[in-house]
Amino acid sequence: MSRGILTVVSGFSGAGKGTLMKRLMEEYDNYALSISVTTRDPRPGEEDGVSYFFRTEEEFDRMVEEDAFLEYARYVKHSYGTPKAYVEEQLDAGKDVLLEIEIQGALQVKEKRPDTLLVFITPPTAEELERRLRGRGTETEEVIKGRMERAKEEAQGMDQYDYVLINDDLETCVKQMHETIQSQHFMSSNQ
Ligand code: 5GP
Repeated sequence: MSRGILTVVSGFSGAGKGTLMKRLMEEYDNYALSISVTTRDPRPGEEDGVSYFFRTEEEFDRMVEEDAFLEYARYVKHSYGTPKAYVEEQLDAGKDVLLEIEIQGALQVKEKRPDTLLVFITPPTAEELERRLRGRGTETEEVIKGRMERAKEEAQGMDQYDYVLINDDLETCVKQMHETIQSQHFMSSNQ
């Protein structure tokens, strides 16, 4: 059995990455979604071990010391990291692993594993991005501003990604994403 493809999906907060990943997992059975560790508080409806592993700063730092992360980064005042063991296990089992992480982490992964596919998801316009960010209705104005600022910075890193997909129509984007990842299998078997 061939090893799975590791794909990093980044994009502006509010670009619809979460929904996209969920649809991809529902539609096809070859994917495994990595669950990150974070020090931020759960949003309403988020469960520990489902959306994230919610941990204290001390617990997070201990995992850094134990070299338990494939990558980790700070994002708007909190730490986020990808536990290494699950990713390796799933890739070995032939699963295509999805990491939904921000750009600093994405670049760390690409450096460690150059065969990683980096995909950036963007809404069609900046106005649409702000509308989606506000639409979630769970964040304070300060957090929304912080995320809009961060989005501007992230836009500058977009050219380091292998693909940029525009999430205008969700189903089209799910299909494009799946085809992009599957074509990578074909390319790696021809190398
Ligand atoms: P949120 O707080 O909205 O769930 O996530 C904020 C940002 O952190 C998003 O851009 C998300 O992709 C990113 N993120 C989530 N998990 C990780 C992780 O394990 N590592 C890194 N580097 N970023 C992450």
